[in-house]
Amino acid sequence: MSNTVTLTINDQEITVPAGTTILDAAKQLGIEIPVICYHPHLTANGLCRVCSVDTGGRVQAAACVTPCNNGMKVQTDSDAVQRGRRTILEMLAATVDLAEAPQILELLAEYGADADRFAGGARREAPIHDDNPFYIRDYNQCVNCWRCVQVCAEDAQYAFALSFAGRGFHTKIATFLDDPMPDTTCVFCGQCVGVCPTGALKPKRQALLEQGLSPDEVFAQTRQSRRKKHIVS
Ligand code: SF4
Repeated sequence: MSNTVTLTINDQEITVPAGTTILDAAKQLGIEIPVICYHPHLTANGLCRVCSVDTGGRVQAAACVTPCNNGMKVQTDSDAVQRGRRTILEMLAATVDLAEAPQILELLAEYGADADRFAGGARREAPIHDDNPFYIRDYNQCVNCWRCVQVCAEDAQYAFALSFAGRGFHTKIATFLDDPMPDTTCVFCGQCVGVCPTGALKPKRQALLEQGLSPDEVFAQTRQSRRKKHIVS
């Protein structure tokens, strides 16, 4: 059995090792496919579907998790693919605060998405979690990409402090029983903040500076809350 597969992507032929995803094969041809939930150092889960491409089947396939097959004919930018991406982006804009998600805002512009197309639909309304000296969680800006969960689990830290909670529209990222972060297995490594593609996870110091505090005030405030936590525990 051959260990390679040959396919065409946008009419260009390519041979890749079996198991290569469409996203990676396209990259080898210099074809960029947009992504939101995908991160090169994390396990791909095909959640946001913005990387969906046409493979000739009845439904489009998420390029980040779909392996290439022999004889596959992939179109990464057909009208149907563009329409799908536009709709996904418009639904995200209707539901989530994307003001601090520059890459997603760029995609909205690139695909001519109308951020007001679904205006009036339910928006995510979540309390802001400011429960530790290191970072703030604002899930009103969360696109449920799962990156923070993945990096907190077996992709890096093995702390398992975060997971999904809820169902359907109410699906959200949460700690076990929604406990405050200091009461979880979080080790405050900061990797979740580093991989978050939006402003949903933000260093506490950055948040305080954005609120207009001086560096001295920021230092005093974060030092104080650290001490408080130490006394409590
Ligand atoms: S908090 Fe950030 S990294 Fe985590 S799921 Fe939401 S957008 Fe993704």
